[in-house]
Amino acid sequence: MTDITSRLLAVKQRIEQAAQRSDRNPDSVQLLAVSKTRPAEDIRQAHAAGQRAFGENYLQDALPKIAALADLDLEWHFIGAIQSNKSRDIAQHFDWVHTVERVKIARRLNEQRPPGAAPLNICLQVNISQEASKAGVSPDEVLPLARAIATLPNLRLRGLMAIPAASDDVAIQRAAFRALYACQQQLIAEGFELDTLSMGMSDDLEAAIAEGSTLVRIGTAIFGTRST
Ligand SMILES: *Cc1c(COP(=O)(O)O)cnc(C)c1O
Repeated sequence: MTDITSRLLAVKQRIEQAAQRSDRNPDSVQLLAVSKTRPAEDIRQAHAAGQRAFGENYLQDALPKIAALADLDLEWHFIGAIQSNKSRDIAQHFDWVHTVERVKIARRLNEQRPPGAAPLNICLQVNISQEASKAGVSPDEVLPLARAIATLPNLRLRGLMAIPAASDDVAIQRAAFRALYACQQQLIAEGFELDTLSMGMSDDLEAAIAEGSTLVRIGTAIFGTRST
């Protein structure tokens, strides 16, 4: 077994155990393998071990890998900051975008989604810990943004995403994830049909799953420590 294969298995076991501790079906938590800065060969290995969904943050780094791996049936998720001059490539080459925080960008992605392609799956990024320096809309801006996106035919709003302030304290981790869950429930109460809560990374996936995550974004625990 390669390192990537054995680490992928270990991550799947962590997901399964966390789900079981919360009386959740492990199949209700998807694994997104975050492959930013990793070579295409690492992605190929993870795919050979059964992984299909990959997340990338940097468009310039992602596009050559997407091209090099076009022979595989992969699902690509954009999880980085979106510059408006990069939106066209994102709309063309990705299946999901987790980091939408502005109507202007959403409109561009909607216009630039190629004709005939399935709607682009969207999560709104929420600044759940309300950190001044962090990306994402504040919780009270989520509903108007969701309403605006619901009118765009080439986008499909799937749910919310957050990167809470880092903390070693599980209670603090869980409080942030619980706040994102509550935000999602408010949208659902407003009539939005949402099925994705994108929260949890290598160091806090257990806390995220305990609070209702349906998609964990895992880099280091699968591919090893990043050099950059
Ligand atoms: C890098 C990154 C991850 C993965 O983080 P790890 O700690 O390596 O698991 C998840 N989400 C986003 C948005 C990231 O940028």
